[in-house]
Amino acid sequence: MIGRHVITSRFSAPLAGMALAGVFAGSLALASADGGGDPGGSRAAALSANHAAPSAAPEDREDRESRESGPPKLPADCKPEKAAELDYANGRIPDEELCPLPQEDESLRADAAAAFYELNAAYHERFGEEMCVRSSYRSYERQAELYESMPAGMAAAPGNSKHGLGIAADLCGGVEEEGTPQFEWLEDNAGEYGWFHPDWAYSNPYEPWHWEYGGDQDD
Ligand SMILES: [Zn+2]
Repeated sequence: MIGRHVITSRFSAPLAGMALAGVFAGSLALASADGGGDPGGSRAAALSANHAAPSAAPEDREDRESRESGPPKLPADCKPEKAAELDYANGRIPDEELCPLPQEDESLRADAAAAFYELNAAYHERFGEEMCVRSSYRSYERQAELYESMPAGMAAAPGNSKHGLGIAADLCGGVEEEGTPQFEWLEDNAGEYGWFHPDWAYSNPYEPWHWEYGGDQDD
């Protein structure tokens, strides 16, 4: 659904610039973290000076570890295995049962969140940045606000949105347009992580940004 960003559209150009600057700063930071070749390299050189037949293994492991420290991991207190037992009405999931996403102020049901972290990491590996999330879990009240503010058919009635179950996310960063590399990558890969683009969202209403977690049923 089109969300809160609509109201900031007059400021979108400078904001986009700032966001891009942030992305580039992030990439640079990652590049230097990933580029662990420097310390690793000098140590490997030291090792090879001391030993006749140095193994490449320590350097490989360091590289892998620094890459793995990139995309964030599911917080330890998130319990995806318990999510299916939850029985809250749509839009009534208490905060403590939701799992925060790496993206600020966004959260999902724990099983959807756990799958999202893995999808996010794969996306990060492909595009060099984390997924962009514009909306995720929505309370009943928030859905009611949206429903009243949007044209008919553009927002699910409160109590009927997958956002209210904590298993839907509205994505950005390119995914909001069908046919972009980001959208097509998700089409090809999201299913591996239990996420999918529902059939209705291709046309009725057209919401390329809306993705859902279906768990095992999508496998
Ligand atoms: Zn949505």
